Amino acid sequence: MPEDLRPDKLREELLELTLSLEEWLRLQRRLGAKGAPRPASVTAAAPEHSRPQRPTLAEIREELGDCRRCKLAGGRTHIVFGEGNPQARLMFVGEGPGEEEDLQGRPFVGPAGQLLNNLLAKLGLRREEVYIANIVKCRPPRNRDPEPDEVAACLPFLLKQIDSIQPRVIVTLGRPATQNLLQTEAPISKIRGIWQKYKNIKVMPTFHPSYLLRAPRERLKTWHDMQQVMEYLAAHEAD
Ligand code: SF4
Repeated sequence: MPEDLRPDKLREELLELTLSLEEWLRLQRRLGAKGAPRPASVTAAAPEHSRPQRPTLAEIREELGDCRRCKLAGGRTHIVFGEGNPQARLMFVGEGPGEEEDLQGRPFVGPAGQLLNNLLAKLGLRREEVYIANIVKCRPPRNRDPEPDEVAACLPFLLKQIDSIQPRVIVTLGRPATQNLLQTEAPISKIRGIWQKYKNIKVMPTFHPSYLLRAPRERLKTWHDMQQVMEYLAAHEAD
């Protein structure tokens, strides 16, 4: 029989191991440990039940229901909730539905929407990859700006959508969208193209596509704003 397999040798080794273990446990008790340490991967991850639960877009839509929370309800054909990828890294926010959007119940489907689609295509993006919504979900009469009481009633739902989607970047389209999301009175001409923040999300204010239809020379500025957005998203691919 080999020397190290002899019963007395094995007993000796077992005793040594037991003593080392006892010593290690005594040391752990002195250090205040109450039990055996767990692997880092288990202790590092928050348990499922303690993670913040975000409502899904479907739940937010259900909560909105056949909304009559503000006076815009009276003139609408459809609520325009928003559409796109529920996990989009890029989100667009406009001010409110126009005539075509009201008829179809979808955001940015009129001439301004066509321009937005063209812009996305030039950036190599498809509509289904991004999420598109508005500050108010019902069409203001004659496409006027949403009024403060209408924004106060409707904005919480957009904020819940943002919270659910958690985009890396939000592009605000035009003055009402920018000022209402960022709670600022700064003119769009002053903050367009300059990074802002909503909570921990980067916000790029730019012109509204319907303005760009009227002022085609300004399109280059929006193109540059979108280049900044695409560069940021590319640099934070892993986020
Ligand atoms: S604009 Fe918003 S708050 Fe007002 S009725 Fe429509 S969905 Fe409701």
